[in-house]
Amino acid sequence: MSALPIFPGTVDASGRPATLGVMGGGQLGRMFVHAAQRLGYFTAVLDPDAQSPAGLVSHHHIQSGYSDAQGLAQLAGLCAAITTEFENVPAAALQTLAESRPVAPGAAAVAIAQDRIQEKSHFTASAAESGVMAGVTCAPYAVIASPDQLRAVPAGLLPGILKTARMGYDGKGQARVRNAAELAAAWADLKQVPCVLEKLLPLKAECSVIVARGWDGRIVAFPPQLNVHVDGILAVTEVYEGNMPPALAVRALAAIKSIANHIGYVGVLCVEFFVIDDGSEHGALVVNEMAPRPHNSGHYTMDACDVSQFDLQVHAMAGLPLPAPRQHSPAIMLNLLGDVWFDAQGEARTPDWQAVLALPGAHLHLYGKTDARPGRKMGHLTLTGADVAGVKATARRAAAILSLPGFEAA
Ligand code: ATP
Ligand code: MG
Repeated sequence: MSALPIFPGTVDASGRPATLGVMGGGQLGRMFVHAAQRLGYFTAVLDPDAQSPAGLVSHHHIQSGYSDAQGLAQLAGLCAAITTEFENVPAAALQTLAESRPVAPGAAAVAIAQDRIQEKSHFTASAAESGVMAGVTCAPYAVIASPDQLRAVPAGLLPGILKTARMGYDGKGQARVRNAAELAAAWADLKQVPCVLEKLLPLKAECSVIVARGWDGRIVAFPPQLNVHVDGILAVTEVYEGNMPPALAVRALAAIKSIANHIGYVGVLCVEFFVIDDGSEHGALVVNEMAPRPHNSGHYTMDACDVSQFDLQVHAMAGLPLPAPRQHSPAIMLNLLGDVWFDAQGEARTPDWQAVLALPGAHLHLYGKTDARPGRKMGHLTLTGADVAGVKATARRAAAILSLPGFEAA
């Protein structure tokens, strides 16, 4: 394993420029590449897709499968350190890379995030160890991996949401079930793969927190993000003073720190929370899931903070200092799904960028995907401004221009 820190702009003994690598070539990889290149690093992306958003903008694009020994060897040969941009990268591949290079986050942390059953056990163990997470629990759940476990599900978990333990994202691999018969049918539809059944909770709101943790254990955090999902996909993120009660924000931050510390996490980590109505004034926090990487709800950090989640991903993996981020502008992020490229009649259209780009404080990010499909993440729009009321007004105008759902600010 090569020595950290890896300073940008340096050249090693064999004449190679300091190169940072990423497993996966999606939009998160693309924004990572942009951040790394801004510091002068060369970049390498491993992704099988010739047209991957990150591969298109990287110095090197290794077009191979994630478990391909030759591809992994090529990536390790080029790079001084390696990260990942999606949690479903095979943990064994990260393990292989870690034999010769610093890899952050590590295979063990990514393996936990890949499996909802392990993830929930990890949350429970983190809470038990730290004490500070007291009161921040998972939704009540049961593991369903066998017909016996299906039969043993307590009635109190229904109505619920059945979720595959592995490979779910953007609400995929999930089914809402009202009773035992629907549960059995939904599990059969999911081919009886290992699942968790979660009780359907009365959500008041949803939020997420993003931290970066270094090799030395230092943690820095962004302020909690308030998120709105539509059809299981993130639609809107709002971040400004007062977006959520301070007492909840403090508890969410304490919880994510416990979750990161408990496994000695290195890199950028996002944890999603529900705020549920428990009869108390502000509601209670429930921990939903974690992402071992930058997160869609943190994209606003590129335009509204003095250091972004992708900058911190670069810093953390390369062993550079982790500056505490400061948000300098209130921000609202609107996700741009492929739906925006179609009108109400389903006819293809070009979104009215002329009007969007004329809005004050509008930061448009498109991911270089040419094939717009409903539900596909094509880009996002972050609105910043001097004050919250102004940002809300601009976001409302943007949402109206693009016919976006999910933003009904007062
Ligand atoms: P992601 O894209 O965030 O990885 P995912 O497919 O892993 O999504 P979840 O985050 O588990 O899915 O759920 C998606 C959304 O469904 C949540 O953001 C929330 O709106 C809703 N949801 C999930 N679990 C519950 C629950 N137990 N009770 C109520 N609503 C829920
Ligand atoms: Mg989620």
